[in-house]
Amino acid sequence: MPNKDYYEILGVQKGADADEIKSAYRRLAKKYHPDLNKAPEAAEKFKEINEAYEVVGDEKKRANYDQYGSADGPQFSGGGAGGFGDFFGGGAGGFGGFSDIFSDIFSAFGGGGGRSRVNQRGEDINVSMRLSFDEAVFGVEKIISLSRIETCTKCSGTGAKNGKEFTTCPDCHGAGRVRVQQNTMFGTTIREGVCPTCGGSGKKIKEKCEECGGKGYKKVPAEIHVKVPAGINDGQTIRMRGEGNSPLGQGTNGDLNIKVTVAQHPIFKRVDCDLQFDMFVPFTTCLLGGKVEVPLTKGKMTIDIPEGTQSGTVMRLKGKGVKILNSNKYGDMLVTIKSEPPKNLSRKAKELLREIENNFDDSDYPKYRDFKNKISKL
Ligand SMILES: [Zn+2]
Ligand SMILES: [Zn+2]
Repeated sequence: MPNKDYYEILGVQKGADADEIKSAYRRLAKKYHPDLNKAPEAAEKFKEINEAYEVVGDEKKRANYDQYGSADGPQFSGGGAGGFGDFFGGGAGGFGGFSDIFSDIFSAFGGGGGRSRVNQRGEDINVSMRLSFDEAVFGVEKIISLSRIETCTKCSGTGAKNGKEFTTCPDCHGAGRVRVQQNTMFGTTIREGVCPTCGGSGKKIKEKCEECGGKGYKKVPAEIHVKVPAGINDGQTIRMRGEGNSPLGQGTNGDLNIKVTVAQHPIFKRVDCDLQFDMFVPFTTCLLGGKVEVPLTKGKMTIDIPEGTQSGTVMRLKGKGVKILNSNKYGDMLVTIKSEPPKNLSRKAKELLREIENNFDDSDYPKYRDFKNKISKL
């Protein structure tokens, strides 16, 4: 999905507060609502406005969007940020879908939309998960225990005993949808919506299911198997589609959002998929060259420090970093070489070093020489 600028769509600044966003949204929704605006592009525009508000009107989704350019945070599975597909399902005709935002506007406009509130989508469940450094780097499988609302299997969500003891809803005659006349400040509109009597099922319960007491759903403990992908980073969220709560009526399940925190490594600093650390080596190794052993995510390797290596030189070990999510590529390991001179020198060592010192002059130290030149011109 291309990254749309939701702020631009709503005509607000990126830093706008929740109230500004809400009022911008209301103004635009009013302007482009297909019941009120018959221009051919209004429906598309209206959908776009709703999509934008769905994200930036929600604190969490907005934070993800700001950080990752997607309401879902970083994407792990192929689906991309197609999450709105469900919600806005029927295209321009499917306005029944966003009853939440909708009843909000309509009641704000003085209409009576709030009454027939129906949950079209179960609520998301948000949990956090702590991972060790290695678990994040290599991936891991975890089990999360939680309790969530699930559709009652005994009555298949009908709420009727054995899933059979019901009759046709008298209000919608089994259609599950009714036409509602609304008096708004723009005049009277007729809108088709979910039948408030039966919640869209089209059925009236004769005898209640004993398992769920007629609700059609119940809260049950669940153990969710989570495949944490290799390369996940601190602060990212794994979104498990449909593993959240079931809706309280007809509709789709919410999602399970797992926010990951990753423990620090004693040596490596992680920057995206690169790992970095400072490695102190004897100053003589920097001067004369030599081999040193460096740690990797798994095991160790020996690297060559070339003769005359400057302190602060970064050695890049290609592909020795962390796996890049959704790819077969890896980041790099960046080893910053730091020359460590000895602190205490024996008389003998000092004599030897004096002798070395006398072997060099300013031409052996071009940076030092250039710097001195600059100073002299100040
Ligand atoms: Zn039941
Ligand atoms: Zn009904």
